[in-house]
Amino acid sequence: MQKIVKARFLCMERKFKTMSQHLLDIENLTVAVEDKEILHGVNLQVNEGETHVLMGPNGAGKSTLGYALMGNPRYEATAGEILFQGKRINEEGADKRARDGMCLSFQNPIEISGLTLSSFIRSAVEQRRGERARLSAFRKELGQAMELLQMDRAYGDRDLNVGFSGGEKKKAEILQMLLLKPSLAILDETDSGLDVDAVRTVSLGVKEYQKDREGGLLIITHSTRILESLHVDKTHIMVDGRIVKTGGAALVEEINRNGFEQYLGQQGCA
Ligand code: ADP
Ligand code: MG
Repeated sequence: MQKIVKARFLCMERKFKTMSQHLLDIENLTVAVEDKEILHGVNLQVNEGETHVLMGPNGAGKSTLGYALMGNPRYEATAGEILFQGKRINEEGADKRARDGMCLSFQNPIEISGLTLSSFIRSAVEQRRGERARLSAFRKELGQAMELLQMDRAYGDRDLNVGFSGGEKKKAEILQMLLLKPSLAILDETDSGLDVDAVRTVSLGVKEYQKDREGGLLIITHSTRILESLHVDKTHIMVDGRIVKTGGAALVEEINRNGFEQYLGQQGCA
């Protein structure tokens, strides 16, 4: 009897925790770049294990949201709240946010000479885990993820993104995500400029990440190709710095058929 009561209590406690705390909770967020307001009061909540898609035409403010979430100092949160794992992070630096488990895959990944892809990922993994990653175990894990992404092992020993093709850079971003296992991964246009095969491979990597039901995912895209074979919980449409529509996976289909035209010029969330 006592056991049943205890189990029930634990269950209620868990339920309360998920009800009261989102993995990411963006409330009325206003963001300015060089004194120009780009985002005008964005609300968005992502729970553990959920995949959200943020779509919208070019210049809508999607990347701005990604940068502001990650703490890029050029993107200033002028009003509103960003809560990550229940804590307000508006004033926290990008380093701290990364250590706490947020990861943004860049639209245009940077090139760094003198730092190999493999050592870059290993040091990021060590910072995230707060302990040294044993070389043999790390190499094994890296090899498995590279195989999944159909990347030649030799890429691990090449300088980070230097001379990588667009597709290879995007694969390198997904590779980092698979090894880092962030609590929240934000993918900004990871599919743009990729051929059909590369999109399929990248999408395989994202699926692998989704298997870990605790990680949340925010996929920013203006095309729908990468979403074709992925599970999507919610879709948000952003136009002119505002979320004008939120729906389920079916909204992706609708955008696929009709584009963003009908949402242009809208003012608030429907
Ligand atoms: P999206 O990713 O949806 O295509 P962005 O977030 O890149 O849109 O851009 C939204 C708006 O913010 C655009 O008008 C863009 O010119 C402006 N913007 C974004 N970043 C900067 C910046 N660093 N400096 C000046 N304007 C910027
Ligand atoms: Mg963008």
